[in-house]
Amino acid sequence: MRVLVVEDEKALATGLKRGLEAEGFAVDVAINGTDGLWLGRENTYDAIVLDIMLPEINGFQICSTLREENIWTPILMLTAKDGELDEAEALDSGADDYLAKPFSYVVLLARIRALLRRDVRERPAVLEAGDLKLDPASRRCWRADREVTLTPREFSLLEFLLRRKGEALAKSEILAHVWDFDFEGDPNIVEVYIRHLREKLDRPFKRDALQTVRGSGYRLDAQGG
Ligand code: CA
Repeated sequence: MRVLVVEDEKALATGLKRGLEAEGFAVDVAINGTDGLWLGRENTYDAIVLDIMLPEINGFQICSTLREENIWTPILMLTAKDGELDEAEALDSGADDYLAKPFSYVVLLARIRALLRRDVRERPAVLEAGDLKLDPASRRCWRADREVTLTPREFSLLEFLLRRKGEALAKSEILAHVWDFDFEGDPNIVEVYIRHLREKLDRPFKRDALQTVRGSGYRLDAQGG
C-alpha cells in the first residue's frame, strides 16, 4: 500500500513517514503543494494524506484539481483545529475524510485503513442517505431521483444532518451549526424547519428520515428513512 503525505511541517511529515512505514506502508512525502499535486497525478497511490495550508498550492486546490482530472485516490485532509469551515470545505472539495490537527496517530492510522477498505471508484462529493441526495457544490437535492427545491436554510439544515447522519443531534447543536452562533431567537425554529423538510422530503415519499429523538433532538436516518 502506497501513501502520499503532503505536509509542509517537516517534523510532522517525517513523523508520519516513519510511523506509516513502520506499519508497512510505502510512503512518499511532498513538502509543498506543487510537488504534492504532481506526485498525486503521476503516481498511483492507495491514499493521500493532505494538509490544507501548504506553500504554492493549498490542499483544497490539490484535492479539487485531482477530482476534476478524475483521479479518485482516497484523500484524508488534515484541517486546523476548530476549523468547522475547513472541514466542510475539505469534503466539498472532494476529500473522503478529514482529521483535525493535532491528531492522535492511532486515529490517523485507523482512518487511513478505513479509506483503504473503501471502493476506489468515482466518488462525487454528493451527500447521501438511501435515496436522499444532496450536492453541496451545485446546491441541489433529490429524493428518489426527483429533484426537490429547498430554501437556503432548509438546505443548510439538511446538509448538516446528512454530514452527521445516524447521529442524535441536540437542538442546541443544530442551532449552533446551522444558525449563527449568537442566534438569540426562539430555539423552536429548528422544529419549524425540520417540519418543512419532512413535508418536502418525507411525507410525499411516505418516508421517515427526519426522526425525533425523545428528550434530545433529531436524527437523520442513515438509510434515508
Ligand atoms: Ca501546513
